[in-house]
Amino acid sequence: MKYQHGHHAGNFADVHKHVTLLAVLDAITRKDKPFLYVDTHAGRGVYQGHDSAQRDGEGTRGVDRLLGALAQTLTQTQADDRVAAASTTSNATTSPITHYATLVRALRQQLHDHSACPGSPWLAASCMRPDDRGAAFELQAAEHSALHRALEYHPRFATEQADGFKRLRSLLPPPERRALVLIDPPYEDPREEQRRVLDVLAGALRRFETGVYMLWFPLKTQRDAEHWRNALGAAVARPVLYSQLGVHPLDSRAGLNASGLAIVNPPYLLDVSMANWLPELHRMLDPEGHGSSELCMLGNSH
Ligand code: SAM
Repeated sequence: MKYQHGHHAGNFADVHKHVTLLAVLDAITRKDKPFLYVDTHAGRGVYQGHDSAQRDGEGTRGVDRLLGALAQTLTQTQADDRVAAASTTSNATTSPITHYATLVRALRQQLHDHSACPGSPWLAASCMRPDDRGAAFELQAAEHSALHRALEYHPRFATEQADGFKRLRSLLPPPERRALVLIDPPYEDPREEQRRVLDVLAGALRRFETGVYMLWFPLKTQRDAEHWRNALGAAVARPVLYSQLGVHPLDSRAGLNASGLAIVNPPYLLDVSMANWLPELHRMLDPEGHGSSELCMLGNSH
């Protein structure tokens, strides 16, 4: 396997995925009942300067743009009257966007590395309560060792160097009867991995149909987007919240044009809160407005 997530960590797609992950975790942890978090393709947990996307500039389109946009909002706000400021920034200050920014800043401060980026298991671990549990799988040995180090202070978060697609079924249904599963493969072979993701998802839903499953996928063309929506519609008989965030028009030759997410069994009112902050996140990541954002429920709750 050649894939190294460090080349993409902190790019716009990572930010879309991670801010959404925090929103889902926030909704899940509102209930005073423990849950299991599973990361089937975990990566190394934390990405530092030399291995993050800053190297080829991808990161500046993502996390750094977001931090810059928030800093600008803050400066404008400070210049304003305090009362007016409270009303203009209430959306941003209570959203998962600012939660994400706070965690990124805390990680950078802790590591004394201004270009470090959190990965999904590290973010999930930061939201977990003492009774929640985590399980993270990573296939590559070096990535797994780094992941293990990144999570060693979280005793209830187990890591394993293993195939997450294969290991997921053994964890379901969880004794907690509540779970969030993130499925985020590298898509080195996009068609084959899409087939695998949907297959694994269908199997997981058969074992545990009320779990929350979050899938990430890359979108380069309009056809990719249609293909994903249709395939999800055909494979999943549960409610699916579909979110898309692009920084280029679909079909442009830029490469990765948009980031796609499907949340199966989305927590109550997640669609309403996302409708508030997703356009704002898009404006921060794509200030020129080349791409667009989209949010809808897929009509497949048969
Ligand atoms: N979820 C991570 C995050 O958001 O920070 C990023 C994960 S990255 C897109 C995909 C990771 O999956 C890579 O580190 C790769 O080595 C790993 N991987 C690939 N195939 C795998 C498999 N079958 N099981 C577990 N990990 C796998």
